[in-house]
Amino acid sequence: MEDLYYKSTRGQDEKTTASQAIVKGIADDGGLYIPNKFPHIDQPLQKLMDMDYKELAFYIMKKYLGDFEDEELIESISKAYDEKFSTTEIAPLIEKKNVYFLELYHGATLAFKDMALSILPHLIKKASEKLNLMKEVVILTATSGDTGKAALEGFANIEGTKIIVFYPEKGVSDIQKRQMITQQGDNTYVIGIEGNFDDAQKGVKEIFSDKVLNEKVNQNHYMFSSANSINIGRLIPQVVYYFSAYLSLLKKGRIKEGEKINVVVPTGNFGNILAAYYAKQMGLPVHRLICASNENNVLYDFLQTGMYDRRRDLVMTNSPSMDILVSSNLERLLYELSGHDEALIREMMNQLNAKGRYEVTDQIKDGLKDFYGGFALEEDTYKYIKKVYQDTQYVMDPHTAVAFAVYDQYKKETGDPTKTVIASTASPFKFTRSIYRAIWGDGDEYSDFELIGEISKLAGLPIPESIKNIDEKEILHRDVCEKDEMKTMVCKILKV
Ligand SMILES: *Cc1c(COP(=O)(O)O)cnc(C)c1O
Repeated sequence: MEDLYYKSTRGQDEKTTASQAIVKGIADDGGLYIPNKFPHIDQPLQKLMDMDYKELAFYIMKKYLGDFEDEELIESISKAYDEKFSTTEIAPLIEKKNVYFLELYHGATLAFKDMALSILPHLIKKASEKLNLMKEVVILTATSGDTGKAALEGFANIEGTKIIVFYPEKGVSDIQKRQMITQQGDNTYVIGIEGNFDDAQKGVKEIFSDKVLNEKVNQNHYMFSSANSINIGRLIPQVVYYFSAYLSLLKKGRIKEGEKINVVVPTGNFGNILAAYYAKQMGLPVHRLICASNENNVLYDFLQTGMYDRRRDLVMTNSPSMDILVSSNLERLLYELSGHDEALIREMMNQLNAKGRYEVTDQIKDGLKDFYGGFALEEDTYKYIKKVYQDTQYVMDPHTAVAFAVYDQYKKETGDPTKTVIASTASPFKFTRSIYRAIWGDGDEYSDFELIGEISKLAGLPIPESIKNIDEKEILHRDVCEKDEMKTMVCKILKV
């Protein structure tokens, strides 16, 4: 059988190895790297049941990362999923009244981004050594809050790399901001911008595609790469936990081998839910992929009509990591559903750029039937956080609450009894203001930091180690710039 390789969603069959795709982040033609085919699990799921998370990660990831040696992959996995995670299960599955929460937030920064960003730096470092690049890899990241901190934590002090993070100065929670500006590590840079996430993302994309700047940077022995979920090295580690969730259900005897499950994913850039789709393509028994949006419900409209239309204002919600209008990873799904039609993808992405919208073909619409789209209003998230807490004492963060609300709609609408896993994407301790407001009232007398202690007391939950006393940590990053100064800031940092 022919080996798996990577290619661009927008280009011809130019074969790219896994390590090249991971180091580059995005293809030269602006497309995203995708595997030319999906690898399949070649053992009955029962056989995988005795693996721990790291062994399972190796089993799944090895199938995608063919040019990494076994030892390289094993070392990267064991450095990523180590004691920085507060549980050896890594991604525990918690049962509450017939719903299963897949908790993806036990890593260093308390959001699901750690699942991939704890391993991506090791993969990039190994890949760059393997390719003999002799260049320092400069990671440029735009963040709506969680990616930035997770990337900083992952890349801090990783030899041969620098990381520069841009965040919307006024668009992240106080705790998210404090997590970033107290980041240690000589190779870390954190800059606030006067603008929103889409401005930050646009600025970073412009730097990536600035040929003159890239040449100058290259001459100075640097190369840019991306830690955003357009990097295939972020997507692949995320496939693992959907298998892990299924195997947990098997182990608990909640499902029989081969029985299908639903997954509900609170969605922004479409990365996390795409990983679930990849798991399904690999042979994981999945029935519906339930895509949950907040008030920025572009994806909901898209799944209803087949028309993607970003022409609307970005709304700031209490689930900021999903405040996104352009879901980059959707391009990968469209590529699969179009039967690998790169000309069509190019055409649609050009339309998105030029007109702010595109409509998909009937063939693609047909393929979207595996997905169910829903969205939750902000008041729904408050309502469900309170309801679930009152019913089960389980505290959901606002992103997870979006998923729960949409699952409730789905169940009422379809009556589908399939066992369902909800991706629980952030710790409630990251969004203390919203949690307190939802369950206990205004809490105006407390700062977001004081609320950490209050919620811990009231809900009887231990405070995660990584945010204990965060308000007393030294602030190490104070730079703020206009949105059109991002390039200047990068040049200053790299002295080019
Ligand atoms: C990033 C993020 C999401 C959205 O994930 P995507 O892969 O961008 O769809 C949801 N919840 C939290 C807490 C996040 O940090």
